[in-house]
Amino acid sequence: MAADGATPITVAWGDGIGPEIMGATLSVLEAAGARIRPEFIEVGEKVYRRGITSGIEPGAWASLRRTGVFLKAPITTPQGKGVKSLNVTIRKTLSLFANVRPVVTYDPFVPSGHPGVDLVIVRENEEDLYAGIEHRQTPEVSQCLKLVSEPGCARIVRYAFDLARAQGRKRVTCMTKDNIMKVTDGQFHRAFDRIKAGYPELETDHAIIDIGAGRMAASPGRFDVVVTGNLYGDILSDIAAEISGSVGLCPSANIGEHCAMFEAIHGSAPDIAGQGVANPSGLLLAAVMMLRHIGQADVADRVHDAWLKTLEDGLHTADLARAGVTATVCDTQTFTQAIIARLGERPSQLWRRGGGGQVAIAPAPRAPRPRKAMVGVDVFLDWDEGDRDAEVLGRRLAQCGAPGLALQMITNRGVLVWPNGHPETFRTDHWRCRFHAPADQAIDHGDLLALLERVRAHGFDFIKIETLCTFDGQPGYSLGQGQ
Ligand code: ATP
Repeated sequence: MAADGATPITVAWGDGIGPEIMGATLSVLEAAGARIRPEFIEVGEKVYRRGITSGIEPGAWASLRRTGVFLKAPITTPQGKGVKSLNVTIRKTLSLFANVRPVVTYDPFVPSGHPGVDLVIVRENEEDLYAGIEHRQTPEVSQCLKLVSEPGCARIVRYAFDLARAQGRKRVTCMTKDNIMKVTDGQFHRAFDRIKAGYPELETDHAIIDIGAGRMAASPGRFDVVVTGNLYGDILSDIAAEISGSVGLCPSANIGEHCAMFEAIHGSAPDIAGQGVANPSGLLLAAVMMLRHIGQADVADRVHDAWLKTLEDGLHTADLARAGVTATVCDTQTFTQAIIARLGERPSQLWRRGGGGQVAIAPAPRAPRPRKAMVGVDVFLDWDEGDRDAEVLGRRLAQCGAPGLALQMITNRGVLVWPNGHPETFRTDHWRCRFHAPADQAIDHGDLLALLERVRAHGFDFIKIETLCTFDGQPGYSLGQGQ
């Protein structure tokens, strides 16, 4: 906090409609008496044009580090090679591990077809398939690594529970696909089951992501807080946002231990830029989240109430305008002035969550390291001989094994093809060949190197290996489908 009692925040005007909705937001915050001191930085199109592929001036990081709070308008990311997504860069650099997306419906003032929705999606932001580690391994097969860590799962799940508690919510739902991905998604689900014990006042449940997403689309009113991984959360948040009635209504926050970024979920909408008709609500509600985050819930409530009252009075921007509920279609400026004029008033029908909402972020926990033993190895081959007969491959590869490390199975895209494969199974040029020690006897890296040397000597093209380990006696790897 600065000497004048104001909290320094970093602000970026953005591109397209960015400057219009940021101007509107800042004028409402000022009129509401927000105790903030903005520092302005440049990000987006102009910065990209200067050849800075990250879209952010190197000097801007100092402001972000100093304030730890970033209110950001949407930017335009130019199409082209070498250009990186600014959001991904900021998220990863500042370790903003939690993406928080509230979704609310405002029936009857913004008809949505789903009255009474007031949910929040808490999406893990740093891990999963978004690590960006991808390889083409054979002419036919590419892979993307899905990385999930114990501290990453624990941190996001704990954040979701703390948020539920701070906002006086009742239920936390976890969504994974752990019926298929038992190791990675299983880790997320197990973290959820472990951590929920510390929040006995909250109801909890788990849904497989496919049916969970279906329910989100069909009956979103049944959800309260949803916590999920990065990819599922990405898809789920867009399904949920569709429900609200306009993309212009939804805010989002990216939260880390040292910094947090607040923004609207929509893009820079170049099609309506400069016309003065954009809806500033998404960014304004993001600013409301920011005010709660910096401990100014009193101002957040004033702004939120005035905004709800404006909706109730039928003053709507064009994207919200509906026959029968809209009294006046406003441009950005008129809508903003209408909100300012209602500061201090309360809505009569629409409801918002009260006060508080500040969530303390615990540092990522470090669990004691378990006892690890290597008991085998998966050797991945690029093999394209004859008609790709798994029996032929199995016979030749079995000769590479040793008494302490024998060929146990071969799978092709995860499906067991040796021993006892089925001729109908489609076979690519990518083979996972599992060598395992008998009775989980520990092997060492010397055993591995000797095995790989024999595989090489038999003329095979190995493309990677994955060691098979047990952790405190529990296997840390999946079985082949059909094994
Ligand atoms: P991006 O591709 O980066 O997501 P975009 O602006 O093209 O950016 P969306 O944010 O999904 O994509 O917006 C889609 C359309 O919705 C816009 O072209 C615009 O017409 C409308 N829109 C988006 N935000 C607003 C807003 N705040 N007010 C009014 N209309 C909006």
